[in-house]
Amino acid sequence: MLHNIHIVLVQTYHPGNIGASARAMKTMGLTNLVLVNPRRFPDPEASRLAAGAEDIVERARTVASLADAVGDCVQVVGASARLRSLPLPHFDEPEAMARAVVERAEDDPVALVFGRERFGLTNDEIRRCTHQVSIPANPDYGILNLSQAVQVLAYETFKAWRRRPASDYRAPRPTGERAPTREQLDHFHAHLARVMAASGFLTQPHARTEAQLQALFARAQPSRKELSLLRGLLRALEPGRHDD
Ligand code: SAH
Repeated sequence: MLHNIHIVLVQTYHPGNIGASARAMKTMGLTNLVLVNPRRFPDPEASRLAAGAEDIVERARTVASLADAVGDCVQVVGASARLRSLPLPHFDEPEAMARAVVERAEDDPVALVFGRERFGLTNDEIRRCTHQVSIPANPDYGILNLSQAVQVLAYETFKAWRRRPASDYRAPRPTGERAPTREQLDHFHAHLARVMAASGFLTQPHARTEAQLQALFARAQPSRKELSLLRGLLRALEPGRHDD
């Protein structure tokens, strides 16, 4: 199940931070590292700081965008020290985040996403997340080193996994009841945007409205079945698609 918890590092500047993050992961039983557009990788500095966790660095998947990194994930939690700038569901306590993530990871991949050393995650990247989490810290100096932020959240995840409710064997949840992947949600929002434009509801591209609707559906946490119901509704509303 811990293999379903992916650690995603966005455009890491110092390769040493990639190695130190891999080490932080391995100490907590996490193995799946995804690198979005790293500045320098592979790099000897990454291997050096990985110490005994070079296997994780070697197996890391490198992708070109955050969308590619999290397409298959049902929950995407962006770690951010800054106050929430978008109305996404926000975990103020890493412990609560870890419980939620561990539960989801029973059936599907989930991602914890970390930003750049210099400027964190962009608003566009935060929009690709389903949730945000902050590590409570000194209000006057609350920004952790990237790999230390990975360590804290990996530790919380490991603790939640150890304490997960004992279920000797839980049958996999039926597909329709599971949360949609990020990619399925993206298709839904693209469809919704098309219908809003075609119906004349939006007369010009309106990013703010789309962001608000994305936040609404992120909070509602529809199941795959509910999402396909909404897709069916949108199809029926699309001009020229009526049978009668
Ligand atoms: N200067 C950046 C922060 C960079 S720290 C900024 O102002 O946003 C690198 C990454 O570590 C952040 O993008 C975030 O993912 C994580 N991080 C650091 N401190 C954190 C905190 N207190 N809570 C959650 N994530 C944190």
